Amino acid sequence: MRPLIRVLSLLLVVTLTGCAQQQAPPQTGTGGFVQVYFSPKGGATDAVVRALNGARKTVRVQAYSFTSKPIAQALLEAKKRGVDVEIVVDKSQRSERYTEADFTANQGIPTFVDDRHAIAHNKIMLIDGETILTGSFNFTKAGEESNAENLLVIRGYPDLMRQYEQNYAFHKGHSDPYRGKGEQAMGGEDEPSPRKQARRKK
Ligand SMILES: [Zn+2]
Repeated sequence: MRPLIRVLSLLLVVTLTGCAQQQAPPQTGTGGFVQVYFSPKGGATDAVVRALNGARKTVRVQAYSFTSKPIAQALLEAKKRGVDVEIVVDKSQRSERYTEADFTANQGIPTFVDDRHAIAHNKIMLIDGETILTGSFNFTKAGEESNAENLLVIRGYPDLMRQYEQNYAFHKGHSDPYRGKGEQAMGGEDEPSPRKQARRKK
């Protein structure tokens, strides 16, 4: 009997240890969780749309080029659910043909242009103060279908999130509200002002 009890005790210890390990987060340290998507056709657009569909409170976007219809639509649907959505785009969106920045601006989503840099090249989404999406992945059709890109979806890193939120606030702070072009617009300057003209072009 004794050896049997000893074996059973050992099994119990092993089982309990196993449970404890399962309850612990898979990553060491902060308990964060990171996923990566590689374009072309690696699911980056779907990952962005999924993250946006789960948004409950806030979405902050920094985009360089913005031509992805599914992503723009997911932003609009988030806004319709009552999510507080804001978008900061590069100045190139002023002179491009109709882009999704025009769509979001025309749909009443607060959209801003950051023209204080050679290019505002960030591609970032901050969702509910919890999820960071970033990488080389532009929110474009080409980014999904033909470019080599990467997108990280990062959750559970509050200190990192704070840094991204501060950086977003910094850029939005010197950005100008964007009034979208009409759907048939063929480029050209939008709302030129002396200040903007003075610092146009590199
Ligand atoms: Zn800026």
